[in-house]
Amino acid sequence: MSWTERYSAALMNTFGTPKMVLARGEGAHVWDVDGREYVDLLGGIAVNSLGHAHPRLVGAVTEQMQSLGHISNFFASVPQVTLAERLLAELGTDGRVFFTNSGAEANEAAFKLTRRTGRTKVVVAEGSFHGRTMGALALTSKQAYREPFEPLPGDVVFVPYGDAAALAEAVDDTTAAVLVEPVQGEAGVVVPPRDYLPAAQRIAHDHGALLWLDEVQTGVGRTGTWFAHRNPALVGDAVVPDIVTLAKGLAGGVPIGACIATGGSGKLFDPGNHGTTFGGNPVAASAALAVMDAIDEDGLLDRVVVLGDRLRTGVAADPRVTEARGQGLLIGLDLAEPKSAEVVAAAQDLGFIVNATTPDRIRLAPPYVLTDADVEAFVTAWPRILDQAGVRAGAEATA
Ligand SMILES: *Cc1c(COP(=O)(O)O)cnc(C)c1O
Repeated sequence: MSWTERYSAALMNTFGTPKMVLARGEGAHVWDVDGREYVDLLGGIAVNSLGHAHPRLVGAVTEQMQSLGHISNFFASVPQVTLAERLLAELGTDGRVFFTNSGAEANEAAFKLTRRTGRTKVVVAEGSFHGRTMGALALTSKQAYREPFEPLPGDVVFVPYGDAAALAEAVDDTTAAVLVEPVQGEAGVVVPPRDYLPAAQRIAHDHGALLWLDEVQTGVGRTGTWFAHRNPALVGDAVVPDIVTLAKGLAGGVPIGACIATGGSGKLFDPGNHGTTFGGNPVAASAALAVMDAIDEDGLLDRVVVLGDRLRTGVAADPRVTEARGQGLLIGLDLAEPKSAEVVAAAQDLGFIVNATTPDRIRLAPPYVLTDADVEAFVTAWPRILDQAGVRAGAEATA
């Protein structure tokens, strides 16, 4: 039996049958079990910020595991406290952090935190993705994900994304929180107007509600700044959210999430209100510190901007891309025809890993350690990938 046959016989069929079986990686490259090499432009879905097998991350995890791997949250550890302080420092506010093992769990923690305001209503954007646990799913708009599991935890109201007027209409004095992604990742990298987040903050605060930003996908340098809501290319005026949730890229592939609450919201939980066994353990926290050190010391935020611009303009030059969105290394490409699955397959055939978010949208979220040569190779191959996928330009497609 092949590995994919064995996979299907042993694992639950939640993801469909995976397209390949990977064996190892280095930098932005991975190799499958047959030894074929690919340039990884998905990076574990915006997770492998330092790529694969980064010496700094390997070293940090190894050293931590050799001294103190896990201790439970009955005890504190130096990496955990250091990481919490570091995240608050990058955010530039006082506050408190709760560590989890994933994005959904960070959002669960935040969802529970909002209930501690004494209010229950949460206003969320259509097209949102906040995770698959029951609470996070209640905040996620996609019907296909929700329907099989209803009833979900309640008092969640959806409004069109990027529409401040709709937000103003929906938020009232019973609203606990307004929850939005600074850029919607799973929806296919949807960028709101520059005044959207400042408006969301104003509207939330006018009604005594919390502004909660889900930066699980956009945070930790993905758009070229530590937080997307601080990226002047994305957001007009300064925004100071009450809650920020992080996960994906934070520890470069070691599972971790963080629910950061600023100011007084950081004190909404009392002892016993929430908990986790693994969350923020010394290995995960050390891994996150290694990622943040590497981003700082290797100048990766600047690299993310340069690489992102080159990638975006490179692929957008093909007329079969009708729109190229995003900032830094979070890029969404609209195709002239709904053939994203074919594009993923053709890319794989030509040695590149890309991702389809919707039938006509491709997402790129490569490691920050992507090289100029990797970008060059992909941009050069892109027209051939579209040829092989049978994507035609607008005029031909409608003819
Ligand atoms: C991926 C993602 C999540 C869920 O994270 P998991 O680690 O898969 O639970 C939540 N919010 C956003 C914006 C995401 O992109």
